Amino acid sequence: QCLIKDFETRPSVTHLLEHPFIKQAHGKDTSLGQQLSVLIREQQDVGNRIKTRYILPTTQTAGQNNTVTSQHERINTRKTLIIESCPDDDLVDLEVLDEETIIAHLQRRYQELQIYTYVGDILIALNPFQNLNIYSPQFSKLYHGMKRSTNPPHIFATADAAYQSMVTLSKDQCIIISGESGAGKTESAHLIVQHLTFLGKANNRTLREKILQVNPLVEAFGNACTAINDNSSRFGKYLEMKFTPTGAVMGAKISEYLLEKSRVIKQATGEKNFHIFYYIYAGLYHQGNLKKYRLPNKTAPRYIDCINGKVMQDIVSSKLYEEQFDAIQDCFRIIGFTEEEVNSVYRILSGILNTGNIEFTSTSSQHQSDKSEVPDSEALDNAATLLSIGSEELQEALTSHCVVTRGETIIRTNTVDKATDVRDAMSKALYGRLFSWIVNRINALMCCDGRITGMNVGILDIFGFENFKKNSFEQLCINIANEQIQFYFNQHIFALEQIEYQSEGVDASLVEYEDNRPILDMFLQKPMGLLSLLDEESRFPQATDQTLVDKFQDNLRNKYFWTPKRVELCFGIQHYAGKVLYNVSGFLEKNRDTLPADIVVVLRTSENKLLQQLFSSPLTKTGTRIIQLSSHKLFKSRLTVRSVDTMEMMRHPEETTNMRRQTVASYFRYSLMDLLSKMVVGTPHFVRCIKPNDDRQALLFNKERVMVQLRYTGILETVNIRRQGYSHRILIEEFVNRYYYLAFRAHQMPQGSRENAIIILQRAKLDNWVLGKTKVFLKYYHVEQLNLMLREVI
Ligand code: ADP
Ligand code: MG
Repeated sequence: QCLIKDFETRPSVTHLLEHPFIKQAHGKDTSLGQQLSVLIREQQDVGNRIKTRYILPTTQTAGQNNTVTSQHERINTRKTLIIESCPDDDLVDLEVLDEETIIAHLQRRYQELQIYTYVGDILIALNPFQNLNIYSPQFSKLYHGMKRSTNPPHIFATADAAYQSMVTLSKDQCIIISGESGAGKTESAHLIVQHLTFLGKANNRTLREKILQVNPLVEAFGNACTAINDNSSRFGKYLEMKFTPTGAVMGAKISEYLLEKSRVIKQATGEKNFHIFYYIYAGLYHQGNLKKYRLPNKTAPRYIDCINGKVMQDIVSSKLYEEQFDAIQDCFRIIGFTEEEVNSVYRILSGILNTGNIEFTSTSSQHQSDKSEVPDSEALDNAATLLSIGSEELQEALTSHCVVTRGETIIRTNTVDKATDVRDAMSKALYGRLFSWIVNRINALMCCDGRITGMNVGILDIFGFENFKKNSFEQLCINIANEQIQFYFNQHIFALEQIEYQSEGVDASLVEYEDNRPILDMFLQKPMGLLSLLDEESRFPQATDQTLVDKFQDNLRNKYFWTPKRVELCFGIQHYAGKVLYNVSGFLEKNRDTLPADIVVVLRTSENKLLQQLFSSPLTKTGTRIIQLSSHKLFKSRLTVRSVDTMEMMRHPEETTNMRRQTVASYFRYSLMDLLSKMVVGTPHFVRCIKPNDDRQALLFNKERVMVQLRYTGILETVNIRRQGYSHRILIEEFVNRYYYLAFRAHQMPQGSRENAIIILQRAKLDNWVLGKTKVFLKYYHVEQLNLMLREVI
């Protein structure tokens, strides 16, 4: 029916002649074969810069019988079938493989709005920075169950391939999306969910609706406007879509990683807090509900106003925020949150905003210096009311702390700085735990709390490699995660090559590639890896930034780590994607991420059920004494909890038995392993998002920027792997067919046998080729040589 569809790759003359359609139209007319070979050779001469067209002279009847089914094929008015094949749909099919060629191809394709390109089984996605009309249900239909070569490359094709192999092979799949901030990862993840929801048509419409609300809801809490991306994800996300064995969608489950909690209390110039704060502020404002949530209506609270008072104006005038508030309300409702829960969420959020407005001043008395107090209690009272805790208790927990020495409890006052830190630590903890709770609640409401079995397609949307002017602990964690994902990528690409070589009986040791395992080991090994050393140092109260750097320097002796001589308190790492200089100031504090026990104790007294849950579960789960408090028992109960760090312990009760402190590093290592264990059980599919320019402009292709990203995302590395190995594996029959002119006469049309392949290879005087069981393995330069020779012969 459709000629091109029956060929996996570019059809050879023999293929075309053997095709039933051609046979039927031309019988055994060999002149057609000659015409075809001339045509195909002509196309090869032109090179890869233009799309190759195979023009088949057909009879009228044959032409009419063909239907136009894809963009790749059309019948022209002269009743001549034109099959348009794009060899550069897949870069691996290109005969020349180098940086320049790849970039030139991507650029030309980008200019033609072909934003997607394959590199073997990897999909490259260039951000179009404009809405393309290629994601409608019609497109989902077009890609449904199709071979990859049938249609132009597309994110739906990747989603489809994952879904089809899940159903046919009954195996979990995972789609790993990478790329730097603003490259299009989150959009890609949405599109994948959209296509998977289309494919897994549940009879249950409500479920489909619910699934489509999950991303917008989680992103309202986890995304923010940054200098680079107006909707930047500030957390890593692994979304598993669950299916029945027949492929009907059953539910979804999210795991979140490394939320950037510091954004709650402070944002860089030109950046904003998490979206949800603005949405609810605008929503409540327009509902006339600001008072109910004790939010000021003149100046926006400090935590969300970094643009000098302009925020309130935006909130009042922006229809967009208000609409988004409505959308979020819908998300909550459709997914199944109760009104009480939603109300509690809003109270906690406004509680956080009020907490941020609590100011401290210093008071000194004769006996005590460095004492802080809250001169204006309005924000304090508001925060306490919204969080349903006592205002006095809150103030006390902010401005003082308990120390237990030799069985005695001493209450020490906090300086203004210390009180401010405690206040901010409390806000971060509240938000972090609220976020985790929302994610867990969504999972519970989607009936995917681990009890149901079935298959799944996981989608990983995680921050890309970061290298700023100043890099801190957050960048270190993000880059280690990327290092791990790159390792996984290498393993997979490498392993595939191995399998192919082995199955073809080719010596596998010939493949070489840059293994980043030593770098990963340097980070993750116990007890001498960088994270372990950091944890060890974090346990010493006397540790300083300097002692930390010294510790690293004494223990990490390898070529991936160095301490620059001229820059203080810094260390450098040679990552797979380049050198990064990290500044250690604040590393220890960030890693400890402690929330004073005094605050935990107060928050546990809350009458807000949700808040109680956020701060009590680790104790109740591990069977440690549950502390029932009334406010006057506050001091006593302080003794029972020493210190609780702010990581989301709810999910990992086993780590918190005996109240051992859990650091961010150890929790990070745990989540990385958890993520990896999910990924390795599935068959991976890679999507590499590329940002063509930094100005978010459509059709603008900045070569330099793309080149850098191709390197980071390992595309060029993949090309290099291919270059070192045998980048071209051609089926023996096809090889003979393509190059027989080099050893035979034109009319001989030799059989596509091993013997004939060897004759051609020997006549061509190539070295280092290998003949596998079914394929000829060639180096990239062989193909160039062969093509040159071919040109001379003809
Ligand atoms: P990332 O998650 O990698 O940081 P996003 O997915 O948030 O990046 O994309 C940033 C912006 O780029 C989006 O808000 C959108 O405007 C644009 N964008 C990305 N992918 C597409 C696409 N396929 N079609 C149209 N616009 C896109
Ligand atoms: Mg994102």
